Amino acid sequence: MLEVKNLGIHYFTLNGVVRAVEGVSFSIDKKEWVTFVGESGSGKSTVAHAILNVVPSPGRIVSGEIIFEGKNLLTLEKEALKEIRGREISMVFQDPMTSLDPLRKVGDQIAEVLMEHGVGNDEAYERARELLEKVNLPADRINSYPHQLSGGQRQRISIAMAMAFNPKLLIADEPTTALDVIVQDSIMDLIDELKAEGTSIFFVTHDISLAIERSDKIAVMYAGKLVEFGNVESILENPLHPYTKALLESVPDLWSESKEIKSIPGYPPDLRNPPGGCRFHPRCPFADERCRKMEPAYIEYEKGHFVACHLRGGVGSE
Ligand code: ATP
Ligand code: SF4
Ligand code: MG
Repeated sequence: MLEVKNLGIHYFTLNGVVRAVEGVSFSIDKKEWVTFVGESGSGKSTVAHAILNVVPSPGRIVSGEIIFEGKNLLTLEKEALKEIRGREISMVFQDPMTSLDPLRKVGDQIAEVLMEHGVGNDEAYERARELLEKVNLPADRINSYPHQLSGGQRQRISIAMAMAFNPKLLIADEPTTALDVIVQDSIMDLIDELKAEGTSIFFVTHDISLAIERSDKIAVMYAGKLVEFGNVESILENPLHPYTKALLESVPDLWSESKEIKSIPGYPPDLRNPPGGCRFHPRCPFADERCRKMEPAYIEYEKGHFVACHLRGGVGSE
């Protein structure tokens, strides 16, 4: 349903070019939940924004294709993309205020999303009430202003807006990070329900345990590169990339004998001047000469399980 090929995104800042995303390729099938994980600054949000061609300035997509149901979203006319945005693909962000206007009633805002795509006034308000119910908010909230709602309720409103047209794809960038654990769970349940109705999910989190619980596939990003991609089970049973292994070891209960949280020594690189060869080499316990010189190829190591690491073979490039 969604196929991303060789995506490259740079931020052209006054202090240099930030190579935020390079050579990223993956696909998402119908009704599939794919979660992107990785440390802060690894490029997860940048990829999320690229899907709808809304990378914020000074960012620019410098290479690649984003094929959604046969159409390349990056070369689509503005009008055609606008039709897809909100109707077929919608987005939910960490801060619900990104998509809400603080000065207007939430009911008006939900109805407006529907009217923008041609739904009549009465039907739009009727549907807004239904959507509120669907996200477990009382219908009288239709007259509330965003500031009269809690953080969790505001996030429900932005999910209601995102659900307005039963989208084929929901892009959710850390939608629960600002919420407490119980509210977090209820938001995750809502997204699960959306998936059960046929929507595919592109989810971003820095919390790998959250990724493991709900998703079908995991995409691991490191310093702008997709280093591993595959089914949750294959990644848990056989993590192929040293960085993925380190991330899994940083989850307390998973590798159960030890309750101690292991952190990964070192820091992610400055993407204005990323290390040559494998970008993980300065932190990798297995790094050798080849890793410092040659970039590992991204290969399908076993069916549906992709990795970029010299330990797993494939021909690299200088
Ligand atoms: P986080 O977990 O903190 O949300 P992330 O994985 O979503 O991180 P991105 O926000 O996509 O990472 O950032 C990727 C890289 O691009 C980082 O090096 C970041 O500094 C850089 N970047 C992001 N936005 C901008 C911007 N507006 N201008 C310049 N550089 C940017
Ligand atoms: Fe480590 Fe080399 Fe694999 Fe990179 S390519 S993850 S440095 S072993
Ligand atoms: Mg982010």
